[in-house]
Amino acid sequence: MNSCDVLVVGAGPAGSAAAQMLAHAGFDVVLCDQHDFPRDKVCGDALIPDAHRALAQLGVQGEVLARARSARHVGCVAPRGGRIEVPARLAVLPRRELDDIVRRAALAAGCRWLAPARFEAPLLDAGRRVAGARLRLAGGGLQELRARWTVLATGAAAPALIAAGVCMRRAPSSFALRGYVRNEAMAERITGLEVVWHRALRRGYGWIFPCGDGVFNVGVGITRLDEGAFNLRALFAEFTRLHAPACELVRGGSLLGALKGAPLRCSLEGARWSRPGLLVAGEAAGSTYSFTGEGIGKALETGMLAARALIEGGESGRRDDAAAVGARYEAALGALKPRFAAYAEANRINEHPWLADLVIWRARRSVDIVGRLAGVLEETQNPGKLVSPRGLARLFLPLG
Ligand SMILES: Cc1cc2nc3c(=O)[nH]c(=O)nc-3n(C[C@H](O)[C@H](O)[C@H](O)COP(=O)(O)OP(=O)(O)OC[C@H]3O[C@@H](n4cnc5c(N)ncnc54)[C@H](O)[C@@H]3O)c2cc1C
Repeated sequence: MNSCDVLVVGAGPAGSAAAQMLAHAGFDVVLCDQHDFPRDKVCGDALIPDAHRALAQLGVQGEVLARARSARHVGCVAPRGGRIEVPARLAVLPRRELDDIVRRAALAAGCRWLAPARFEAPLLDAGRRVAGARLRLAGGGLQELRARWTVLATGAAAPALIAAGVCMRRAPSSFALRGYVRNEAMAERITGLEVVWHRALRRGYGWIFPCGDGVFNVGVGITRLDEGAFNLRALFAEFTRLHAPACELVRGGSLLGALKGAPLRCSLEGARWSRPGLLVAGEAAGSTYSFTGEGIGKALETGMLAARALIEGGESGRRDDAAAVGARYEAALGALKPRFAAYAEANRINEHPWLADLVIWRARRSVDIVGRLAGVLEETQNPGKLVSPRGLARLFLPLG
C-alpha cells in the first residue's frame, strides 16, 4: 500500500463517512486509524436526529437501529427539579459498535483498510502541497503513503492537527467524562435519555443514556473551560450524589470498566479547514455542537461534505485543482457556521443553570415551548434565539 487517490486518516464517523462516499464514487481510498477496530471511543453514545439522517444517507441506519436502544424522548431536568420530556427520534449505541458498522460499510464500498497506522506527518511536494502522509505502523515501522488528497478526521486530540500544520488552537473547547453502569433493576424505569442541569454542574450538565440490557452510559461534561480549573471525576461524584436516579443507578449497580474522559472541539473553531492537498473533517475541524456536546451527526455530515468536495473536483478527469476543492469544502462548512454559532449562544444555559429552571418551568405549561425544544433537537429551531433576551421575554407571553 504505497499510494492511493485519497488517504482518510481516522476511522471515526467523519473518516468512515468520507471514505465510503469516495469509494462509491470510484476513488481509490485508503482508510487508516491508529487503532485496530473495533475500538472504544469515549462518548455519550447518543444518536440525535442529525445522526439518524446521516446514517440513513450512508445506508447503515437499519443496521445501527437493529443494534441500538431506541428512545422517544429526552427528559430535561432543571436545577430545582422541574422536568419535561422533549420528544425526538433518538437511539443509543456504544461507539465500539457504531463506529465499526460505519467503518465496515466503507470497506464494503471498496476502500482499503490500514491499522494500526498513526499519522505522524504530511508528505509535501515541491510546492508544499500535501501529497500523502508518513504513518507509524504497529511494531514501530514507518510507511510513506502517497495520496493526491488526504482527509484528516482524527477527532478532538490536537497532535495530528499540529503535525498537519492546521492547528489554530491546541486547547479543546470542552471536556466530558463517562462510565458504563449496569443496573438491570432500573432498565424499565429509565427508558429515555436524561439530561440534568444543576448548580453543582455549572458550565455543563450530567446525563444518563440507556444503552439496553440494563446498561447505562452516565456522564458529565463541562462546556466552558475559560473559567478556571475543574475536576470531572469530582463532578461525576457530585452528579451521582445529587441527582436521585443517577445516585440509585450507581449505588445499586456496578461500574463496567473505568470512568473515562475526553476532549471535545466545537463550533467549527480551532483548526484550519483545509490546506492544499488536505481537508480537515469532523471534530478535528470543530464539528461538535457546544451546548449539547453532540457531534456524531455533524462528524458524519462534514465527512460527507469533504467527500462531496473531492468528488465534484474529480468529475473533470480528476484534475488536481486544489484551490477549487478547498474552496468548495470551506464554503460548505461556512454555510453551517451560523447554526454552530446558534448552539454556542445556547451554551448560556450551561453557564447559567437558572435559565434551565426558567425554560423548563414555562415548558411544563406550554406544548408550544416543548415543540420549540423538540425543534432544537431536530434543528428546525434556533437554540440561540430561545435563550436570547428576546427569546426569554417571549417565554412570558400568554401561554399557547
Ligand atoms: C464524553 C463525551 C460524550 C459525548 N457524547 C456524545 C453523544 O452522546 N452524542 C454525540 O453525537 N456526540 C457525543 N460526543 C462527541 C462525539 O464523540 C464526537 O463529536 C465524535 O466522536 C466526532 O467524530 P470524529 O469522527 O470527528 O472523531 P472520532 O470519533 O474521535 O474519531 C477519530 C479517529 O481518529 C483516530 N486518530 C486520532 N489520531 C490519529 C492519528 N494521529 N493517526 C491515525 N488515527 C488517528 C482515532 O483513533 C479515532 O478512531 C461526546 C464526546 C465526549 C468526549
